Amino acid sequence: MEVKEIKAFGTKAAEAPLDQININRRKPTPHDVEIEILFCGVCHSDLHTARSEWGPSIYPCVPGHEIVGKVVNVGGHVSKFKVGDMVGVGCMVDSCRECQYCKEGQEQFCEPGMTGTYNSPDKNLPNNPTFGGYSESIVVDENYVLRIPDNLDPAAAAPLLCAGITTYSPLHHWKVGPGKKVGIVGIGGLGHMGIKIAKAMGAHVVAFTTSESKFAEAKRLGADEVVLSKDRAQMAAFKGKLHFILDCVSANHDINAYLALLRVDGALALVGAPEHPLPVSAFSVILGRKSFAGSMIGGIAETQDMLDFCAEKNIPADIEMIDIQQINEAYERLLKGDVKYRFVIDMASLKK
Ligand code: NAP
Ligand code: ZN
Ligand code: ZN
Repeated sequence: MEVKEIKAFGTKAAEAPLDQININRRKPTPHDVEIEILFCGVCHSDLHTARSEWGPSIYPCVPGHEIVGKVVNVGGHVSKFKVGDMVGVGCMVDSCRECQYCKEGQEQFCEPGMTGTYNSPDKNLPNNPTFGGYSESIVVDENYVLRIPDNLDPAAAAPLLCAGITTYSPLHHWKVGPGKKVGIVGIGGLGHMGIKIAKAMGAHVVAFTTSESKFAEAKRLGADEVVLSKDRAQMAAFKGKLHFILDCVSANHDINAYLALLRVDGALALVGAPEHPLPVSAFSVILGRKSFAGSMIGGIAETQDMLDFCAEKNIPADIEMIDIQQINEAYERLLKGDVKYRFVIDMASLKK
């Protein structure tokens, strides 16, 4: 396989900061699209992976799975995209395409396992991991590339590729809409999209935050009510009131306190993926026949539906643009919940 060396930003060890490195990308094969990366969102999963918080990662590690860029080259059999198109790549760049879940459009649950945009074995370049969007360019099979609708600002669309689909998919699956009271917990990258999407779906949205500084702003994002989750009295006011809760928290927290807010037959879906297990009391779920569930990103067709939905409802992410050289500082701020509401890297900075 022919390769091309490009610039990227990544890390060589869990304890090391991210720095500039060179990586190899394959030259486009007949079904591939080559994309010049313009913007890449910074997901908390990037930090978990760079630091091996979910088990040992493969190094060097180049994170980034909220990618937006321009098509600069297409293979001979590509039919869905042409040079100049504005496109996106999310958390997945391949899957087996044959198992029941791939056939159903739920490639994220592919039985042999999907190929993650980063930190997965690369099927095309044996003995190499996949490298993510903190880089100049990426080469992806056209079936795993998304169209970015014209009316979405490309930088503010980048976070939709992970934060958008990760919140849209469970909200859709659990039939959030008019007449439903929905809680969104943890107002970071995922949570702020959760508020916007649940509101656009017609639900009554209650935001739960630990940050006083986000309390006033959550309403601007679309929340009907906001709860400072550290305040017991404010939490108690919602006991047994919610149909569904989407938990987007990246660190340890008390799940039982949120299960108590569900109505009978209510469900809490965890999308946040903290490093350590979260204890759940039996009584938190047996009293009220409650469900404690989880959800992971979404399929490719569903991701396109989400982008089209966000374009139609005009819901971009709220972003703070950074240069790639600020990525280590951005990670420290993520750990403090100090981002409103998604860092997006202007990839032109990689040329500096
Ligand atoms: P983020 O921007 O850092 O947001 C996480 C939010 O959680 C913070 O803004 C904060 O919100 C809250 N939080 C943080 N520490 C907390 C603590 N100790 N106690 C209570 N609340 C705390 O992260 P993100 O990018 O949205 O990702 C959130 C989580 O989802 C991560 O674990 C990530 O890996 C995971 N994720 C999962 C999927 C999936 O497919 N399931 C996809 C993407 C990401 P407040 O300030 O409002 O309290
Ligand atoms: Zn992500
Ligand atoms: Zn499959």
